[in-house]
Amino acid sequence: MENTHEVDVIILGAGAAGLSAAQMLGRSLRSVLVLDTASPRNRFAAHMHGILGGDGLDPRDFLARGRAEAEAYGAQFRTAGAAAVAETATGLDVTTTDGTVLAARRLIAATGVRDDLPPLPGLAEGWGRDVLHCPYCHGWEVRGQRLGVLATSPMGLHHAHLIRQWSADVVFLSADAGPIDETVARTLGARDVVIEPRRVVEVTRNDARALTGVRLEDGGHVELDAIFTAADLHPNDGYLAGLDLERDEMPFGSFIHADFAGRTSHPRIFAAGNIANPMANVPISMSAGTMAGSMVNMDLVTEDFALATERIDAA
Ligand SMILES: Cc1cc2nc3c(=O)[nH]c(=O)nc-3n(C[C@H](O)[C@H](O)[C@H](O)COP(=O)(O)OP(=O)(O)OC[C@H]3O[C@@H](n4cnc5c(N)ncnc54)[C@H](O)[C@@H]3O)c2cc1C
Repeated sequence: MENTHEVDVIILGAGAAGLSAAQMLGRSLRSVLVLDTASPRNRFAAHMHGILGGDGLDPRDFLARGRAEAEAYGAQFRTAGAAAVAETATGLDVTTTDGTVLAARRLIAATGVRDDLPPLPGLAEGWGRDVLHCPYCHGWEVRGQRLGVLATSPMGLHHAHLIRQWSADVVFLSADAGPIDETVARTLGARDVVIEPRRVVEVTRNDARALTGVRLEDGGHVELDAIFTAADLHPNDGYLAGLDLERDEMPFGSFIHADFAGRTSHPRIFAAGNIANPMANVPISMSAGTMAGSMVNMDLVTEDFALATERIDAA
């Protein structure tokens, strides 16, 4: 069989997952092309936390270092967005948003998620700074401060319980959590979590644009230092739409199914990081990318032997 592929593997996304896969495949002497639109999910934060050996790094420095490491093993990078993926007889074609078609034997989808925040004035501008989603990423930095938990669904209640671990001064802004029954209110009250059922209409900020609190529907104000809230998550997987991959329905939405090795329901497509696992932080995304990279290499090793045997048989 003639090899008409540009590369062995195209990786979509150069975040923690995609770069980890690129490093593994580069070190496996595979030809790798990484396409990326340069919008990693944590680009709003100045520092990353919960990352052994990399705690406190600027996400931009971390990714630049990861890219340089992958490039040192031969991985190529291109700024481009994937628009569609189609099957071919021996691999996959990736069409980019500018219409370029690139062929590979395997694909690793590592394009992450998009966070859609509630459209409240003053909220989005603090995302990753004083409007936070994950206490394991940012809880230590705001420990002991006046924290609000802004519910966007009934799961906000879980968030309110969790955030209490980092501060004794927590207000649960519960309007979008649904009715809070007496037992739940008693439990929250037992650890001094204040329930504020009035709807939040605005996040207030001072002249330096630092968060000062939230304005309520009746004009009342709650003073706060930081807010935890849950964004609406949307996987960046539109380019796979035509392939009808198996999906997992989760409380966070519908995500492409990938097993522990990153295998999807398509034998030539693997997925790693937030695109398949909305709970993954940076280390978990790195480990998923590392696993997917090594599994794709093994898959190609198997195919290389099969093709070589076929050629001998045909001779
Ligand atoms: C504000 C904030 C702060 C965070 N802080 C922390 C922290 O402190 N510690 C921690 O462990 N985790 C943190 N996280 C979580 C962390 O950002 C994610 O776990 C991690 O980015 C997931 O890695 P990923 O590689 O799956 O996706 P991403 O890092 O989001 O990378 C995906 C890449 O794919 C690209 N892309 C998207 N669509 C396409 C397309 N169609 N074609 C080509 N490329 C595409 C994007 O531009 C992006 O570069 C934070 C998240 C947020 C929102």
